[in-house]
Amino acid sequence: MTKLQTEQSAAKQYIEHVYAQLEQIYGHETEFLQAVEEIFLSLEPVFEQHPEYIEHNILQRIAEPDRVVSFRVAWQDDNNKTQVNRGYRVQYNNVMGPYKGGIRFHPSVNESIMKFLGFEQIFKNALTGQPIGGGKGGSNFNPKGKSDAEIMRFCQAFMTELYRHIGPDVDVPAGDIGVGAREIGYFWGQYKRLQGAYQPGVLTGKRPGYGGSLGRKEATGYGTVYFVEEMLKDIDQSFYNKTVVVSGSGNVAIYAIEKARHLGAKVVACSDSSGYIYDPEGISLRTLKEIKEVKGDRISTYVNYHPHATYTEGCKGIWTIPCHIALPCATQNEIDLESAQVLIDNGVKVVGEGANMPCSIEAINLFQNNGVLFGPAKAANAGGVAVSALEMAQNATGIFWSFDDVDAQLHKIMKDIYANAKGCAEKYGFPGNLVIGANIAGFTKVADGMIAEGVY
Ligand code: NDP
Repeated sequence: MTKLQTEQSAAKQYIEHVYAQLEQIYGHETEFLQAVEEIFLSLEPVFEQHPEYIEHNILQRIAEPDRVVSFRVAWQDDNNKTQVNRGYRVQYNNVMGPYKGGIRFHPSVNESIMKFLGFEQIFKNALTGQPIGGGKGGSNFNPKGKSDAEIMRFCQAFMTELYRHIGPDVDVPAGDIGVGAREIGYFWGQYKRLQGAYQPGVLTGKRPGYGGSLGRKEATGYGTVYFVEEMLKDIDQSFYNKTVVVSGSGNVAIYAIEKARHLGAKVVACSDSSGYIYDPEGISLRTLKEIKEVKGDRISTYVNYHPHATYTEGCKGIWTIPCHIALPCATQNEIDLESAQVLIDNGVKVVGEGANMPCSIEAINLFQNNGVLFGPAKAANAGGVAVSALEMAQNATGIFWSFDDVDAQLHKIMKDIYANAKGCAEKYGFPGNLVIGANIAGFTKVADGMIAEGVY
């Protein structure tokens, strides 16, 4: 066996050994193991070229969060009944900066989902080039159907425990599914009361005018479209005149739709967790915002405003609508092998992940094996956290930037992320594979930092 072959097998053996250990301990954490597997599969060429990462056991160290804080949240509902939920904060890795990642309120939240999101966040945040580490938090609290007062009491109870673990230089949470500017406002008020100090850099996603950054609301959706625009440029294409399907109708989806339309695309479908609408004339953004942002209503009501559109119960069918570009922007594991095949059969050319891990590993492989350009979440949806880092910078200086300034910086960051992921894919022998490129670009930055810091 040649020296190179020995090193190759050492890399593979090392990866398989670490994965097997994680599987043994965390076999029940399916989402976490899925995220780990997706990254580990990309890293073999890195370990072949950098045996020092094996010597320093970087993989095992990076896959174990620095700490997982799990806590009880007791709160009173409007009937004066005491309710109890579980809260989490996963502080994964702070080599690049303070732990940074959103808070999710959804009944599905558990430790596995927190860890999958926190693990991904390490590499995504490193890719942005901003000084932010990786973390994630949330609760199995279901905000649906709760009154504003109940949401406020829950957020205050959540922060009453969380505040001792976070700080502008320690850990900086933001929003995610079920947590928007309203919830961030309640968190912020409670943090300020408990801390007895005005430290706006402790949370991002605050309302503009109250410590927030202009452009944060738009950042993830716009960023995803900017990233896909770069992918399209590589095949001499653009959004102009393309048919686009976007899943979800929350923060990411609405602003992905807005930017895709700015660039001349026709977005014909979007969804919520109950079903999807199809409007062959192109979705009316004004109606969508009225339904979702003003009224907080269901997407099914769209057809009341536009009777020529159709509503279908169930989410999966959205991927049967023919499109050039698919932007899954709702939640994890929305596109499985079957949906990926239908998209391919219907001629999809580009898939860009606005949500976190919306495509299964099998679906991603199928896209790539069929020549569909694939933009992975940790690169394509990094715009939100990148602008969160810009919000932290504005909070630190007390100087606030215009929307156009923030948007221009976001655009540049997304172009840089694309160039970095593309360049790494080429450098390590996988041209065009942005999954591998993004994983390697994020991983090597953090791994180098971990080696520089020494073992702790
Ligand atoms: P929101 O809570 O604002 O919106 C989520 C949307 O997805 C809602 O329309 C929701 O519908 C819908 N949805 C939930 N489950 C399904 C499903 N199974 N099928 C179809 N639609 C569904 O969340 P965000 O837009 O903020 O986040 C969306 C995704 O983007 C998440 O994966 C999140 O982690 C990721 N992300 C968000 C960032 C941000 O800045 N907000 C940053 C980076 C990633 P319903 O109203 O019925 O629940």
